Amino acid sequence: MLIILRESATDAQIAHVVERVESLELKAHLSKGTYRTVIGVIGDEEKIRTAPLAAIPGVAEVVEVQPAFKLASRAAHPEASIVSVGKGENAAKFGGGHVGMIAGPCAVESAERLDEIAGAIKQAGATVLRGGAYKPRTSPYSFQGLGEEGLRILREVGDKHGLPVVTEAIDPRHVELVAEWADMIQLGARNMQNFVLLTEVGKTDKPVLLKRGMAATVKDMMMSAEYVLSQGNPNVVLCERGVKGFDNATRNMFDVAAVPQVHECSHLPIIVDPSHATGRPELIPACALAGVAAGADGVHIEVHNKPEDAMSDGAQALLPDQYAELASQIKKVAAALGKTA
Ligand code: PEP
Ligand code: MN
Repeated sequence: MLIILRESATDAQIAHVVERVESLELKAHLSKGTYRTVIGVIGDEEKIRTAPLAAIPGVAEVVEVQPAFKLASRAAHPEASIVSVGKGENAAKFGGGHVGMIAGPCAVESAERLDEIAGAIKQAGATVLRGGAYKPRTSPYSFQGLGEEGLRILREVGDKHGLPVVTEAIDPRHVELVAEWADMIQLGARNMQNFVLLTEVGKTDKPVLLKRGMAATVKDMMMSAEYVLSQGNPNVVLCERGVKGFDNATRNMFDVAAVPQVHECSHLPIIVDPSHATGRPELIPACALAGVAAGADGVHIEVHNKPEDAMSDGAQALLPDQYAELASQIKKVAAALGKTA
């Protein structure tokens, strides 16, 4: 950590900063320039992170050198992590050259409908079936999901088609139940900073799909991943799903640069979700391919066989045929990068 002092800082103020650093059993390395003094702090940064050094008179800025997300950082784990979802020969992999293919409807609506969709996406090459049983809806009057019944349907249909399943937990009280039925627990954009929920899923042994909050920076997302990792669960897959933008031509603003940014600072896999990022079926294929070309470790797409009847997010669903075409293109882009999808 570097503490940059103001030009106007007095010798007494500088001495006080050094004293504070040393009182935390850290070393202060003073470097005096013509105009400014910089103090390099050597030792366990964690001790100083919580100290309000920027509040000391004479301090202009405190700059972190090591990221605060220690476990999620690339420095902690130089190799890319590979996260496996499900068991045996049907396990899906994300990261380290594996491009996972998550697809399915926004919500589990009925066993028959999910069965048809699952059959189609499996044939197209999907490796994980998605479907919400608990839906975080903007309106309390919208369809909230089938709850436990939805979890049961998802499990049965996934097993029938040899697909591991991912579904969202929106309440810490449901985490145990969701972990019983699902192979992967999704934490949605609206809950990315629900720290109680992050802590609960961190205590499970199920991989976590952590979606970027709609107003969250990449660093915020990394800190949320750190919550899960710090509880002992190392299997986190991040997901770029768009952030709020000023242009309402798309549902959100797809931030493809988040993919290489995460790879630069972290070993965790990151996938893209162009369905929620754009909200428009005609834009989804191009954004999915751009994500994979940017290095994404997976693609998350909403697919429905009758979007006009869908109980949530129907307008952004791809039809099974459209998904099949996109999946074959994704495989080609992945192969061009030496990866498997
Ligand atoms: C979803 O996956 O259906 C969902 C609600 O996603 P997000 O949290 O990204 O909005
Ligand atoms: Mn959705």
